[in-house]
Amino acid sequence: MAPLTLCNLVFVIANPNDTASPDRGGADRSGTGDSGGSDLGTSALLTRLPEALLWELTVSGSTVLTPSMRRISFAAPNLSDLRYEPGQDLMFAIPGSDGRTFRRRYTIRQLDVPGGRLDVDFVLHGDGPGARWAEGTKPGDTVEAIGPRGKVLVDRAAGWHLFLGDESALPVTAAMIESLDSGSRAVALVEVDGPDDEQAISAPAGVEVDVHWLHRGRTAAGKSTVLADELAALALPDGRGHAYVNGEMKTVNGLRAALVQRGMDPATVSAKPYWRHGVANAAHGEPGRD
Ligand SMILES: Cc1cc2nc3c(=O)[nH]c(=O)nc-3n(C[C@H](O)[C@H](O)[C@H](O)COP(=O)(O)OP(=O)(O)OC[C@H]3O[C@@H](n4cnc5c(N)ncnc54)[C@H](O)[C@@H]3O)c2cc1C
Repeated sequence: MAPLTLCNLVFVIANPNDTASPDRGGADRSGTGDSGGSDLGTSALLTRLPEALLWELTVSGSTVLTPSMRRISFAAPNLSDLRYEPGQDLMFAIPGSDGRTFRRRYTIRQLDVPGGRLDVDFVLHGDGPGARWAEGTKPGDTVEAIGPRGKVLVDRAAGWHLFLGDESALPVTAAMIESLDSGSRAVALVEVDGPDDEQAISAPAGVEVDVHWLHRGRTAAGKSTVLADELAALALPDGRGHAYVNGEMKTVNGLRAALVQRGMDPATVSAKPYWRHGVANAAHGEPGRD
């Protein structure tokens, strides 16, 4: 695949929506949209997503982080042009085994410009084109991605930050905590299968971090109440804080409601469903609505 240069990167026109419309004629290999298969053309997406660029990524390596998470490293000749804020993501065009393309969103975990490496951490849940691709991909494979995307960024005016989510939210939680300002405080409630799925989360000097690892054990992902139970028992710090809630759709919606019920201003609760139990993500890469 030919590398992209600045000349053929596509800058796009602002669009207030974070969702995309059906393909209006862009040339790509998308198929039709059942089971989360993409019916969105690359060029149509690029004309609708503010400040998004098209990236032709080549897999350069991978690391087993935990039994449920694989870090894939990517190279691209123009990586130094990638400008993003911690918390933002890329929309990947994942090739399915049947020739269709599936749009799936994954957080930018870290970017090492001098090293020419972009890292993305994939949950190996085993049951979707994204997870299967992440499990089977090898160095030299190429994949297209569009981004950066995402509007939820660190709230720099908040004195404390509360992160809630399952392992799909671990990359965004870790990336945001690593970027907190000195003097701020972070509490993270993270649901994983078990102790082997825990990861080290580091923070800059002067940031106080308290991570609660919650094990769902034999309960299926998306069905556990460990996050809600832990939140109910947690005393929220005083002062102005901001909560970031990501993961399974119903769980996210329940946690958001609980935080608002506890008195948090809805404007300081950023809740974004990442996936939906038993249902493939929709063609725009997010859980579909009923
Ligand atoms: C902005 C954003 C950022 C995200 N960042 C990341 C990230 O950095 N790393 C990451 O791994 N995911 C991330 N996700 C979540 C990821 O996009 C979804 O999990 C997506 O469903 C994976 O696609 P798939 O093709 O593997 O599964 P799909 O085809 O969407 O779903 C197939 C089946 O798998 C189940 N499923 C999907 N995801 C999970 C899961 N995590 N655990 C258990 N079952 C699941 C579904 O319920 C469904 O039954 C992010 C999502 C968004 C919207």
